[in-house]
Amino acid sequence: MSTSSPRKRLATVWLAGCSGCHMSFLDLDEWLLELAEQADIVYSPVGSDQKLYPTNVDIALVEGGVANEDNLELLLQVRANSQILVSFGDCAITANVPGMRNMLQGADPVLRRGYLDLADSSAQRPHAPGLIPELLDRVLPVHELVAVEMFLPGCPPSAAQIRSALEALLQDQRPPLQANREIRFG
Ligand code: SF4
Repeated sequence: MSTSSPRKRLATVWLAGCSGCHMSFLDLDEWLLELAEQADIVYSPVGSDQKLYPTNVDIALVEGGVANEDNLELLLQVRANSQILVSFGDCAITANVPGMRNMLQGADPVLRRGYLDLADSSAQRPHAPGLIPELLDRVLPVHELVAVEMFLPGCPPSAAQIRSALEALLQDQRPPLQANREIRFG
């Protein structure tokens, strides 16, 4: 972890998830003010207008599985520029809900089912190279693609779990793992 500054550089990242984990992050409510005294939110869909992933991030909370090429590119940037990468929520850890499409065995059957078989009218496959990210054949959990320092399960993790993890990480400590609280899926 960086020792050059007492303030941590914190990022939250949204891959293929429902944003519920980020909603739980916002449920930290007034503790977010304490967090702002200890850390700079340098990248976050709910806390920063920064569009490009920055360098020298101390802690990155990554929500969601890896479902498409944009998710994969962003995850690799996160890994290359973050000290502590937290797999944030069940979709990041197991692929969970977005991973249900893996039962259809590939991107092509998913697109055919969604845009052709179930279409009421004007059935057509979306095709806009450079605008619509290509689906990966399978939705993958984060740790299958990059190293992960910590897993924070839950669908979503509760605000109390998130606070407990961040309080420790901000002090350069590992969070306590208490059964039925910090390490429960679902
Ligand atoms: S873990 Fe649950 S709350 Fe978080 S992104 Fe996935 S489905 Fe949504």
